[in-house]
Amino acid sequence: MIRVTIWYEYVQEAGYVTPELEAALPEEWKARMHEWLPQNSERIRRAYPNGLMESLAKYLRKNPEFTVTMTNLMMPDYGLSDELLDNTDVLIYWSHVLQTVLPDEAAYRVVKHVQAGMGFVPLHSAHQSKPFMYLLGTTGTLRWREGDFCRVWTAAPGHPITEGIPEYIELSEEEMYGEPFDIPKPDDTVFISWFSGGEVFRSGCTWTRGYGRIFYFQPGHETSPSYHNPYILRIIENGVRWAAPVRMRESFECPHIVYSPEDARRPKN
Ligand code: ZN
Repeated sequence: MIRVTIWYEYVQEAGYVTPELEAALPEEWKARMHEWLPQNSERIRRAYPNGLMESLAKYLRKNPEFTVTMTNLMMPDYGLSDELLDNTDVLIYWSHVLQTVLPDEAAYRVVKHVQAGMGFVPLHSAHQSKPFMYLLGTTGTLRWREGDFCRVWTAAPGHPITEGIPEYIELSEEEMYGEPFDIPKPDDTVFISWFSGGEVFRSGCTWTRGYGRIFYFQPGHETSPSYHNPYILRIIENGVRWAAPVRMRESFECPHIVYSPEDARRPKN
């Protein structure tokens, strides 16, 4: 049994932010958000009437191999409590506009659990989430343009994440992400995408950090229908299975690293 947690930023789809999150927003955003978020919500609902993460959750739930927990930024502890992460084998993570609002201590909880063995599958715009950047040590910057045709090439056909996936798949509408993608050299570049503007992108990459495995996968813009595509769902499923822990580190203690103020307060064992 693989315990999967899907963490989703959710605010764009919800169309509002909680007062706690609003207080943490940069000043120039506060006025704009009330107009802008409801418009976003409508656009996402058009592509995903049941919610952006729902078709992925439904797909994974069909497989008795997985249990799926849904959580989001608006929940207590930003949906990333130690208790939840302690009970997660693989964390799927989708974030976008409020990446900087997630407090460092929540981001470092994810880092700590990945280093201890939890699998991490950041999707699409999570390339600039704090957990992604803190785990990999780079900025995650890239080129982008909304609304493009995309061909996702299977670049490592022997890799377990490509099981059941053809030589290439085509997405009639997906956001263009292009090189240079500021990441450390991947252990494996599993997929490379080509866009109609001629750009190319390392769209499926793996790393290990500590005991944990990381699979970044690019498709999944919130207004493109990629999470309805059976191949995209299969790739994420394969990625979850690949990222599931082989073994867990028994203790998180590291004398030189305090991950969060909470960790500093926690009694040493
Ligand atoms: Zn996007």
